[in-house]
Amino acid sequence: MLYSKLFGKTRHNPPVDAKSINAKLLTQAGFIEKLAAGIYNYLPLGYKVLKKIDNIIREEMNAVGGQEIFMPVLHPIEIWERTGRDRIMEGVLYKTSCGNKKFVLGPSHEETVTPLTANYVKSYKDLPLSVYQIQTKFRNEPRAKSGILRGREFGMKDMYSFHVSEKDLDEYYEKVKQAYFNVFNRCGLKTHIIEASGGAFSDKFSHEFSVVTPYGEDTIIVCEKCGTAQNLEIAEGKVADPDEPEEKELPLKEVDVERGFTVVDNAKAHNVPESKILKTVVYEVEDVGLLGVVIRGDLNISEVKLENYMKKRLRPATPDLLKKAGLVQGYISPVNVSGNINISFIADHSIKNVKNFVTGANVNGKDYKNVNLGRDFTIKDFTDLLEVKSGFQCLKCGKSLKELTAIEVGNIFKLGTKFSKVFNLSYTDKDGKLKPVVMGCYGIGNTRLLGTVVEASHDEKGVIWPISVAPYHVHIVTLGNNKEVNQNAQKLYKDLINENIEVLFDDRDESPGVKLNDADLIGLPLRLVISNRTLKKDSVEWKARNEKNAEDMKLEDVIKNIKNFINKD
Ligand code: ATP
Ligand code: MG
Repeated sequence: MLYSKLFGKTRHNPPVDAKSINAKLLTQAGFIEKLAAGIYNYLPLGYKVLKKIDNIIREEMNAVGGQEIFMPVLHPIEIWERTGRDRIMEGVLYKTSCGNKKFVLGPSHEETVTPLTANYVKSYKDLPLSVYQIQTKFRNEPRAKSGILRGREFGMKDMYSFHVSEKDLDEYYEKVKQAYFNVFNRCGLKTHIIEASGGAFSDKFSHEFSVVTPYGEDTIIVCEKCGTAQNLEIAEGKVADPDEPEEKELPLKEVDVERGFTVVDNAKAHNVPESKILKTVVYEVEDVGLLGVVIRGDLNISEVKLENYMKKRLRPATPDLLKKAGLVQGYISPVNVSGNINISFIADHSIKNVKNFVTGANVNGKDYKNVNLGRDFTIKDFTDLLEVKSGFQCLKCGKSLKELTAIEVGNIFKLGTKFSKVFNLSYTDKDGKLKPVVMGCYGIGNTRLLGTVVEASHDEKGVIWPISVAPYHVHIVTLGNNKEVNQNAQKLYKDLINENIEVLFDDRDESPGVKLNDADLIGLPLRLVISNRTLKKDSVEWKARNEKNAEDMKLEDVIKNIKNFINKD
């Protein structure tokens, strides 16, 4: 491709409203162009990358027996009413109507693929089956500020599998997991797999694939030794006990105090470390009432773990509610709380190995010192409620855990029979019995994946495309507008095309600075510069985008070396 003819050019500055790296670099380099928040045009360079990503995805999905289909974007609202997701996903769904017919712009395709499959699957002989599509999805995302990482209109590969049993689904699920790793590896990305995202009533039948980058929307906890990765909200880890094994239990003391309500205020007022404060946070739990959650002062509570443990929705109790219940905000503790107050307590394991805590005395302006579990208060219910932080130890290998930001590029779910029951997708088993089909679903955001490659692979000058998804492999740049240089460059360009090498030739009459900067910004894997200087040596200047140094290479060796270069990954 001649750069002078290419639709979509580089621009000097990124758009002022582009906040994320992917939006900045891809727009500046002429790959995408925003139409509105979360809605993008893909220009030839961007679309080429997307198609390469799609092909990688296709090859890997085909390899696990996926058959490609293409389902409609426009869904009659009735199918969404059948699953109730018209209400559950209210706010995210784009709805439209024509006359008195109402439609949903598909944010996902379980509601279409399940009745579709029900037309064809009748017997156990028709199973297992796996179909996928690469399609545009529509979601009214509240935060559409991360460029193509979070679009309102975005691309997704969604695959759906159908099985006679959970066991058969489990086996297939493992195959797809491996196929997902293959996709991300081939796109040059290192991914972590994370079990379930947590949240109320999470059934843990899902996995997320995440790429660590400095600007991801998610926080994950990773053990860099054994590679275990967990979602922050439900991550497990061990926190070290304060190192005072010999400490003796001292007599309980009630003291007058003037202090603020925070743990920091409390520790300061008594001149003790925060780990010596017994912290109680009170929650209002659906159908249960007030629940005091007790934890070491220097640690935080994971509300998702708490919700999962209680299996109830909950929220921190308001000051009003505390007052009504007879509790004294800032001084609440499980020690000598009045029997008239309707509150129960639960604690994190972290309070078990600390002696002589300081805590509130359930009276304004009074604290207890030297509070000890078992002697001064008891807790019936202990569980892990810790919000894990960098520095906690990995439960598997004992090494230090790290909190990292990440981007979720894929998500796989065991749906079970949830959708097949709604749409009567069932099969007749060998014994003649009618049974619901067991389903799995598997998503990859192909447009998000494109953005993620940029987030993970760039420098201050521009994108650094991995060979596998680069829009072109080679960028020819001429320096100096003279006849010999131009003729040699034209010849090289034609030779490369004849060898089926994907090449972009910057044939513009621009300054060397502009051309070299543009080449770095666009980020093709290999740059070949032809100038008077190189021609004197019958050479080109060869520079890989991901390497610092350039070298001269004889013109006659270039094609052979390009072929080696391209095939190296
Ligand atoms: P997220 O938690 O990031 O919103 P999700 O759990 O809603 O993702 P799924 O519904 O499982 O995502 O979709 C499958 C995949 O589609 C995700 O793993 C992600 O790669 C991609 N994806 C989801 N929402 C968007 C979006 N708004 N823009 C671009 N890609 C998206
Ligand atoms: Mg989402």
